[in-house]
Amino acid sequence: MSCIFCKIAAGELGTKFIYESDDIVAFRDLNPQAPQHILIIPREHIEKVSDLQEKHLNIAGKLLLAAQKIAQKENLAEDGFRLVINNGKNAGQEVMHIHMHLLGGRKMNWPPG
Ligand code: AMP
Repeated sequence: MSCIFCKIAAGELGTKFIYESDDIVAFRDLNPQAPQHILIIPREHIEKVSDLQEKHLNIAGKLLLAAQKIAQKENLAEDGFRLVINNGKNAGQEVMHIHMHLLGGRKMNWPPG
């Protein structure tokens, strides 16, 4: 298994999980871009949004619901937060295991860079 996020999801790197379920784990980004920067990933290895299929409907929905729960738990729900999914080269996706960034704790700019 060479995928770093698969290793994290399997608990191989001792990463502290902010949230964990049968299908999803969430942990703090190594290089935070906001006071709160959390990555939410499925345990299953799916490379990117472009690879999602009908069979992933449940997982895709669970990613969003996990974000909602984490935002609530981390007191980000009231002030707001941003969810980002980079898909492929032009979006700057570095880790080829689908992940949602949850960013909060500061005012976000729009349009994004
Ligand atoms: P992306 O550019 O959307 O692929 O984002 C990948 C993110 O994963 C970056 O924000 C990295 O800082 C983060 N990252 C990479 N390796 C780790 C790791 N071992 N633990 C936590 N975050 C990581």
